[in-house]
Amino acid sequence: MMKALIWNKSKIELTEREYPALQDSRDAIVKVKLSSICTSDLHIIKGFVPNAKEGTVLGHEFVGEIVELGDGVKNLKVGDRVSANCETFCGECYFCRHGFINNCEKGGWKLGCSIDGCQAEYVRVPFADCGLTKIPDNVTYENALFVGDILSSGYFGVELCELKAGETLAVIGAGPVGLCSMACAKLFSPSKIIAIDTDKFRLDLAKRLGLADYTLNPAECDIEKEVKSLTQTRGADKVIDAGGGKCIGLDGGTTGLAFSKSIDYATQTGSFEMAWRIARPNAIIALVAMYEEDQILPLPKMYGKNLIFKTGGVDAVHCRELLNLISEGKLNTDFLITHKFPLEDILEAYNTFENKSDNCLKIAVTY
Ligand SMILES: [Zn+2]
Ligand SMILES: [Zn+2]
Repeated sequence: MMKALIWNKSKIELTEREYPALQDSRDAIVKVKLSSICTSDLHIIKGFVPNAKEGTVLGHEFVGEIVELGDGVKNLKVGDRVSANCETFCGECYFCRHGFINNCEKGGWKLGCSIDGCQAEYVRVPFADCGLTKIPDNVTYENALFVGDILSSGYFGVELCELKAGETLAVIGAGPVGLCSMACAKLFSPSKIIAIDTDKFRLDLAKRLGLADYTLNPAECDIEKEVKSLTQTRGADKVIDAGGGKCIGLDGGTTGLAFSKSIDYATQTGSFEMAWRIARPNAIIALVAMYEEDQILPLPKMYGKNLIFKTGGVDAVHCRELLNLISEGKLNTDFLITHKFPLEDILEAYNTFENKSDNCLKIAVTY
């Protein structure tokens, strides 16, 4: 038997589970070395994820060592150190062949959602040759922990908005995904990156690490005005909404844009409205946040602004390249690990993560 964190009726519990077994020739069994907790896990617990199955082991962000492989897995071997993709995908269907793995006909977000995930000692990974990427020798498990989920999501935001050298990028939400977007954006040499959040700690971190050139706090200034003054009144060339905040006082989507509770509701805008307001005409706006509510697209107000909106749940197809960038020292997400907890204390870890206690950004669950 092994320890595993399972989800049942809006509750989580650390319990005993049978070791996972191979079920298909393309499966792998991975001994988890580090895992993390994602806002998506909280979404499951709160009942926002219709596909989630009760009784499932949670968790989809992890690294580990392969201990068993099905006959059909060709490019991996037992003992390989691997980083896992948060998405399960076959690599063969129409969507996979086009790189749209989030919509794989046989996959999607399954691990820790509809099949057992990684917040356990061992995990079964279907289509292992697609879902696992070998970690380069000079990259540690810590270095690689976020590659298959939030780092891929951050990169996806930059890719969606087609960021080019010399452009101004505004990133709404300086949570883990927003910070990853900024780190990836720097690879494309924008002229400036503007980070927007109400969390002072996160903004200061973005500034201190050189991920953002300017930081703006909606609790302290008029964001639209400030962005315009930084862009010769045009607005940002590209915008990423990694916040997904609905309104003040409500915690934002996948990245945790925390709007201040102390501001007047009526005068504040949600992150989606902020995104199109601060965009220049003909801008591309990448919406990578997981919104919990419908958003309003006021077409008459933006007629003639000719905006392009792209929505996205991450197609995490760049894990190999991201690991190479980490190996070459061009990308580093170690700063995101603000807390570590052993698997035995994972309930406390959930508490710390959910409440952002002690400025928690991301947790590494150790084994
Ligand atoms: Zn996630
Ligand atoms: Zn597929």
